Amino acid sequence: MEQVMRNFFLFLSKNKPLTRLAKKYGLRFGASRFVAGETIEQAVEVIKQLNKKGLAVTVDYLGEFVDNEQEANDMADHCIEAIEAIHREKLDAQLSLKMTSMGLDISEELVMRNMRRILDTAKLHDVFVTIDMEDYSRCQKTLDIFKRLKTEYDNVGTVLQAYLYRTVSDIEDLKNYHPNLRLVKGAYKEPPEVAFPDKKDVDENFKKIIKMHLLNGNYTAVATHDDAIIEYTKRLVKEYNIPNSQFEFQMLYGIRPERQEQLAREGYTMRVYVPYGTDWYGYFMRRLAERPANVAFVLKGVLRK
Ligand code: FAD
Repeated sequence: MEQVMRNFFLFLSKNKPLTRLAKKYGLRFGASRFVAGETIEQAVEVIKQLNKKGLAVTVDYLGEFVDNEQEANDMADHCIEAIEAIHREKLDAQLSLKMTSMGLDISEELVMRNMRRILDTAKLHDVFVTIDMEDYSRCQKTLDIFKRLKTEYDNVGTVLQAYLYRTVSDIEDLKNYHPNLRLVKGAYKEPPEVAFPDKKDVDENFKKIIKMHLLNGNYTAVATHDDAIIEYTKRLVKEYNIPNSQFEFQMLYGIRPERQEQLAREGYTMRVYVPYGTDWYGYFMRRLAERPANVAFVLKGVLRK
């Protein structure tokens, strides 16, 4: 049943008419539990509250699968606006973005132009930028662009997904770039030809890549809500004397907030991924796909209205 629901919500996440409807009607149907608002001003207020609780942030102007140049340029402008707000408001925050919102499906030249605009502003204000990882069909292109950017900028990192068979060799391949990587299980629907179909294997591979990347001496963001993975990381860093300054935990806004605060109190860097903007529909559907309890929570909210 869980798998059927997961597939259903992942299917909905790519539905273009529903995406348009969601943009038109705003943050409804419980999405505000996972999305910090539609404007940068609303996001800034949420980030301030999180920072007060000792939580660091990575902020994401929502958008993906952009198919025209103007929209890609507008998305880049929103990212620059977010970086400027981080600087102006002195927030403890970084930026996350998706390559398809910068024009990945249009041309590499467009993506590079938008990324350089963003990274130049980010560098000026000492803000770190993480390139989220999207579906498998964009993985190689994203990594190729990341490698090019990493030779020009220090303030850029990306994400690898434990569910992909290729990820172990990607960790090896990227090793000498000394990348700051966020490691995740993976959120898209991928076929068994490219990704472990069994959750148990994904978890084992997740542990393997966390260990590889940390022991390579590179900065590691362990992005998960899974206590088993969090406890594994804590044991690993203790065993190998890895300092707290070489890794951090990350979780999504609205998911396990009490656990986020607890990890911060324990002295770990805990970073919350805070999405905002009008294009919240695909992100919201992937959160529902991850966990049936999220669907129940949202339904309760809708019924109460
Ligand atoms: P799951 O297997 O979903 O959950 C494991 C356990 O965690 C559950 O059994 C439960 O015990 C606990 N748990 C989970 N949710 C809850 C909850 N709501 N309440 C209480 N307990 C809960 N994916 C990408 O593909 N690309 C990206 O760039 C990307 N960036 C991300 C950035 C961040 C900061 C995070 C946290 C995730 C990101 N993801 C990304 C999503 C990721 O790939 C997973 O889909 C998502 O994190 C769910 O996997 P999980 O590791 O939390 O474990």
